[in-house]
Amino acid sequence: MPKLREDKSKCSVVGCSNPHASLHHLPTSEPFRSAWLSFIFHGNVPTSVGKVIFVCAKHFKDDCFSNLRQYKEGLAKRLCLIEGSIPSVFGDDEQSTSVSCK
Ligand SMILES: [Zn+2]
Repeated sequence: MPKLREDKSKCSVVGCSNPHASLHHLPTSEPFRSAWLSFIFHGNVPTSVGKVIFVCAKHFKDDCFSNLRQYKEGLAKRLCLIEGSIPSVFGDDEQSTSVSCK
């Protein structure tokens, strides 16, 4: 068996360090794929991207999920992303709002 590397599935969005969360696969069809990549890399999409690209649930608006309510109530294990949804939320759980040099 090939050894798996330590880096488990995690969100690929630049700057995101959300450890938990439901992860969603990069769609294979255009134009969604491009839109996701553009979001993930803040518009600077590298010429070759990794095979495994995930975006965590944090970057989607609530209404991008068809079962958010069930998920929150513990009835669903995974969030179900509505096809064609594009990530649009960078998230702000890091207290970066009022950090300044002085
Ligand atoms: Zn993320």
